[in-house]
Amino acid sequence: MDVTLATAWLRAVADSVAAEADELTRLDSAIGDGDHGVNLRRGFTAVTALLDGTGFTGVGDVFVRSGGTLISKVGGASGPLYGSVFRALGKALPPGPSATLPDLAGGLRAGLEAVRALGGAAPGDKTIVDAYEPALAAFEEAVAGGAALPEAAAGAARAAGDGARATIPLTARKGRASYLGERSAGHQDPGATSTWLIFQALADVTA
Ligand code: ADP
Ligand code: MG
Ligand code: MG
Repeated sequence: MDVTLATAWLRAVADSVAAEADELTRLDSAIGDGDHGVNLRRGFTAVTALLDGTGFTGVGDVFVRSGGTLISKVGGASGPLYGSVFRALGKALPPGPSATLPDLAGGLRAGLEAVRALGGAAPGDKTIVDAYEPALAAFEEAVAGGAALPEAAAGAARAAGDGARATIPLTARKGRASYLGERSAGHQDPGATSTWLIFQALADVTA
């Protein structure tokens, strides 16, 4: 993972979030306040502007500054949550222009720990964690088994998609959807869905 690939990944996330904004908003309308697509499109549009206008000191710096941009530009819960993920990922990477595959796996784990520390969600609470946790597990298993980045990212994206779909029957225990109690069941979680888009974008840019 180098500065060029980090930048390409974040741009691919921005494209995907823009293309899927209406769908993310539709999902959030069912169990939240209908702004998830708008929130993430605004945040990643600002990240794209950052990427266009900035010289980065290293690969970690790309993620740290992109995370800071999400925190400052997105009003909803997802801005601080995803901002914390990317900041933690960036801070966990070694200084310099590139990071190894084990470095990236460690950084992605730091991202999951950050979102769990900030949001307090456990697996099964119908949140970002329900896509992220299985995606990370698949990524780590692939890396441990000697897979290269494209294969590890593809496995993570598949696991994230399965995790997002598996939120449908769950009752939300965190975030706005938890206000609905059992009426939140029967709908796919918007944040788990956007986490899937983020891992799918990594798979797409590395394929
Ligand atoms: P808001 O709920 O403030 O309108 P968004 O609509 O942008 O923010 O994001 C909603 C998503 O954020 C939810 O679908 C859920 O996946 C995620 N989320 C909310 N609270 C938490 C939390 N405590 N931990 C992890 N993810 C959360
Ligand atoms: Mg919302
Ligand atoms: Mg909102």
